[in-house]
Amino acid sequence: MIAEIPMSESEISRLLDDIVEIHYGYIDMGYAWLFPKREYISAGIGGRLIKAKTLIQRLRSYLRSHGLRDDVRVRGCFLPISRFRHNVYAERLMLTGDAAGFVDSFSGEGIRWAILSGKIAARTAIRCHEKNRFSADEFKEYQDQCFSNFGADLLRSAKLADRLFGHPWILLKTALINDRILKMHLKTITGEISFREYADWVRIRFPLFFIKRFFSPKKENTSKPTHCSLL
Ligand SMILES: Cc1cc2nc3c(=O)[nH]c(=O)nc-3n(C[C@H](O)[C@H](O)[C@H](O)COP(=O)(O)OP(=O)(O)OC[C@H]3O[C@@H](n4cnc5c(N)ncnc54)[C@H](O)[C@@H]3O)c2cc1C
Repeated sequence: MIAEIPMSESEISRLLDDIVEIHYGYIDMGYAWLFPKREYISAGIGGRLIKAKTLIQRLRSYLRSHGLRDDVRVRGCFLPISRFRHNVYAERLMLTGDAAGFVDSFSGEGIRWAILSGKIAARTAIRCHEKNRFSADEFKEYQDQCFSNFGADLLRSAKLADRLFGHPWILLKTALINDRILKMHLKTITGEISFREYADWVRIRFPLFFIKRFFSPKKENTSKPTHCSLL
């Protein structure tokens, strides 16, 4: 669910100071966000389809909790996360981007995968045209290349999302209050490292971070949901 809250540039910079905020804990298996724009704040909340009916109310209460007006138009959008469960090719056909379900389970990002799959599809189409062969078998290579380029990474991210969102107060919170994990996570968003590298890095260190969390409880804010601001 997304909403635009109109406001002056100075008010936006007072509230958000050019920082994108991402808040975990307002919804199971998802997050809420505030993005500063020139003439409005773009706010949203995203989670599993099964919770869709509650999302409008949750977004409005999220806006109120940040001192923002909640009498704005709320629009719904669908993120088609497919996790490579079905084929994305057939005779004379390739599905790319959202149509193929190439969306990251953790962040909901899809632009990067739409561009990548589009490029792979274009190269495949040229090859098939040159060979003048358009059977499903010819297009299977497109799916294989998508998987080896970024599919395995998307699946790894999905697994991590299931684990972290499935145990928000134990695993997700440990991850979010740890600066080192958060910094590594941001590197996946900027594309500096792959989700596979991130997951391997976290898996080895997580037990230590988890133990540390309980030996330095002062850092925790137990009265509110897990909250972090990402640059
Ligand atoms: C609220 C929201 C926020 C998001 N934020 C991010 C983000 O911050 N970062 C990120 O990476 N991803 C984000 N995403 C996901 C991202 O927008 C999509 O994954 C990405 O745009 C998919 O690209 P696409 O080209 O596959 O599809 P689209 O961008 O949907 O493009 C499909 C195009 O096809 C056109 N079309 C549809 N039917 C027809 C037809 N019959 N004939 C001709 N044209 C047609 C549509 O009008 C559209 O222009 C967000 C999604 C939502 C809903």
